[in-house]
Amino acid sequence: MNFYVLSLFPEVIKNGSSFSILKRASENGLINVKAINPRDYTLDKHKKVDDTPYGGGAGMLLACQPYIDAYNSIKKLENSKTVIMSPQGKVFNQEMAKEYAGYSELIIICGHYEGFDDRIKQITKADEVSIGDFVLTGGEMPALCIIDSVTRLLDGALGDEESKEYDSHYDGLLEHPHYTKPREYMGLAVPEVLVSGNHEKIKEWRRYQQFLVTKEKRPDLYEKFLNSELSEYDKKILKKNNLI
Ligand code: SAM
Repeated sequence: MNFYVLSLFPEVIKNGSSFSILKRASENGLINVKAINPRDYTLDKHKKVDDTPYGGGAGMLLACQPYIDAYNSIKKLENSKTVIMSPQGKVFNQEMAKEYAGYSELIIICGHYEGFDDRIKQITKADEVSIGDFVLTGGEMPALCIIDSVTRLLDGALGDEESKEYDSHYDGLLEHPHYTKPREYMGLAVPEVLVSGNHEKIKEWRRYQQFLVTKEKRPDLYEKFLNSELSEYDKKILKKNNLI
């Protein structure tokens, strides 16, 4: 999968994607992360990429020409998607990560300063995406969040293929608690079932814990899950524990 990131700070993208799973995925040819600096495309002799807003007001806006020329320099694949980072966008979630993982190419446009000339969004037909209801200095960290979450969904990105299926949000629930050695620490023991060796019981306990954890921490997600089409296996565990 190709990730092209339009950013005035390409080193943030380069550094942020050169560790751990993203690094390995790049080395294995699973992903290709390329940062493009719109400043390299500006026709302004002073390499200017921003200007003052029409109508007045504080701050500088990123101008169309360098961004659109940088965008047009990408030879787009057929199955390509463009998103623009913005605190006004749809809040990114696991469903969107799954959707983006289905594209061959994701083009991410990062803003800075006061934001963009609105026509950049219109011309590129980009979806506006936010990573939460707060305002950051620039779109680089949001872009890295998207690249990271999408990459780990690609087949072969994780060492253990199992792990993403039990992750929080994979099927609308949060993950169950985990424990590692020692079996007892500061008087706190690992739940008996996890050392029982009974895999069926462990599986059921973990699923039950997913229900409890989600109910407690994210009642909104739990409600949504209960109203979805439940599997016979889930219904059995929910009934057994008087949750339905
Ligand atoms: N003036 C803009 C507004 O009020 O909507 C905010 C501009 S912000 C300081 C600069 C850039 O950071 C944005 O253009 C966007 O690319 C990025 N950004 C800031 N917060 C973000 C968020 N929560 N999600 C995604 N991108 C964000």
